Amino acid sequence: MHIEKRKKLSFLKRIFLIELFKGLMVTLKNQFRPHTTVEYPKERLVLKERFRGVPRLRMHPETAEELCVACGNCAEACPDNCITVVAETRASGKGKQPKIFIIDYERCCLCGLCVDPCPTKPISAIYMSHDYELASYTREKFITEKDRLYSGHEKREYKK
Ligand code: SF4
Ligand code: SF4
Repeated sequence: MHIEKRKKLSFLKRIFLIELFKGLMVTLKNQFRPHTTVEYPKERLVLKERFRGVPRLRMHPETAEELCVACGNCAEACPDNCITVVAETRASGKGKQPKIFIIDYERCCLCGLCVDPCPTKPISAIYMSHDYELASYTREKFITEKDRLYSGHEKREYKK
């Protein structure tokens, strides 16, 4: 490996701090260029339709019944092993629904692989939501059970 030695500054350059001023000029020049970042949380981007926040469950939009048939395909597909599904028979006696459905958001990498194998077509029971402001002081908060997978975590918009 070749390591290039730092050039020694001339006496004049050291005295007049020329390199420092060069650096300051670069900073000053960039102050007036248009910003390419937003000042979150004061400013917010409009999320794209395909933005992937944490995965959630949804009911059938017309019948308000659980779409999930507790097949476990999503849990199987999850590379982080963060989905737990326990099935039970529906009250009608036909088909299954999840008795327990848990996603550990702490381990979720938001890859979206759980959505693809969901068999409930055309509406997928599991989907990638637009929820992303989920910071918490406790790890337990990220273990999200069925009710909250439907309703979502309480809305918390960071403002400062
Ligand atoms: S988004 Fe990826 S990591 Fe998160 S639950 Fe789905 S499959 Fe698992
Ligand atoms: S969310 Fe979809 S893939 Fe996951 S258990 Fe329910 S029906 Fe199966």
